[in-house]
Amino acid sequence: MKFDQLFQNQLDQLKEEGNYRIFAELQRKCGAFPKVVNHHEDGTRDVTVWCSNDYLGMGQHPKVVNTMVEAVQSCGTGAGGTRNISGNAYHHKRLEAELADLHQKEDALLFTSGYVSNWAALSTLGSRLPNAVILSDELNHASMIEGIRHARCQKAIWTHNDPEDLDRKLAALPANATKIVAFESVYSMDGDIAPIKEILDVCDKHGAMSYIDEVHAVGMYGPRGGGVAEREGLMDRITLIEGTLGKAFGVVGGYITGSHALCDFIRSFASGFIFTTALPPACAAAATASIRHLKESSIERDMQKRQVKRLRQRLDAEGIPHVDNPSHIIPVMVKDPVKCRMLSDILMDQFGIYVQPINYPTVPKGTERLRFTPGPLHTDADIDYLVEALKTLWKQCAIAHAVA
Ligand SMILES: *Cc1c(COP(=O)(O)O)cnc(C)c1O
Repeated sequence: MKFDQLFQNQLDQLKEEGNYRIFAELQRKCGAFPKVVNHHEDGTRDVTVWCSNDYLGMGQHPKVVNTMVEAVQSCGTGAGGTRNISGNAYHHKRLEAELADLHQKEDALLFTSGYVSNWAALSTLGSRLPNAVILSDELNHASMIEGIRHARCQKAIWTHNDPEDLDRKLAALPANATKIVAFESVYSMDGDIAPIKEILDVCDKHGAMSYIDEVHAVGMYGPRGGGVAEREGLMDRITLIEGTLGKAFGVVGGYITGSHALCDFIRSFASGFIFTTALPPACAAAATASIRHLKESSIERDMQKRQVKRLRQRLDAEGIPHVDNPSHIIPVMVKDPVKCRMLSDILMDQFGIYVQPINYPTVPKGTERLRFTPGPLHTDADIDYLVEALKTLWKQCAIAHAVA
């Protein structure tokens, strides 16, 4: 084909750098998570997943599965339209009420994914509000960056998790600016957590709106799974809380919560909300069941914390370097894209352990890593087996045993 050489040149360059993405083909088995079947060139094999964002295994929880099956049988598969044109289901409305309650806000608005919710909400706020300036943490997720870019308003990037730098950048803005401060709670690659209270204090000082992405925290932190802001009693101080239904809640979809006027505004003006088919009602029903369950049950969160702690202790005992952080994410630094891919391949081929290498551009070059997310369904034996495998490989590959 005429254009294929143009495509291939860039792909070849990626491969040379070790940054070419290869997706593992997996078949999840309901009831067996985190064990899955890996389909590869020569057949299939059983592997244990160590890098899933289905952090609590809710994607196979009987309540969630049964709710989805029943909803499909009663409502059919797709929504049949956008929310505006025939696709607005009872299940969507009920889920939005559940989300508003989860975050103690007046209202919520659903999107087809967390990516779309950030993209649509930030681009709409930035493009519609008078003299808008979006102040974005330098490590914000691609979905926020794309939303901000699409807003085509003024923007400022502040130093990661640094309220003082944010303060300086806000102080430099004119009095008539509408200031929007966008950040995350749990940053999923390093597993660090934002100083939310300090950031909100700075927002208040400058009359800025606060926009938090709690995608990696909803379902996981706080007594009802409302996120880090719930745990710290700060939800009422945040203008807009964004989250996903695709990670700890185990389904699919994204959302924002906030005041009624804010949600109504995004509903009325966001192209990424208006011009796309609504989520299948069964997904909305399943997500509602998952949220309700995690509002009342802490056993999943407690077991997860236990297994995270256990993996950290076992890695420490073997001198395998991992980034110390206050979250559920355990990054083991490899700092080389080719080695990172190689370790991941060997773990899969020889040990039946699946952990995807995390390379550029997901993380900066030179900080390539394996990112482990232990959950309540990983057994102690799974953890021991993983650590033994890493120990063997660490010796073979002669990767420095220094703390990253
Ligand atoms: C995964 C992710 C999203 C997007 O959520 P999806 O529901 O997967 O589209 C948004 N923000 C952050 C920080 C994420 O890691």
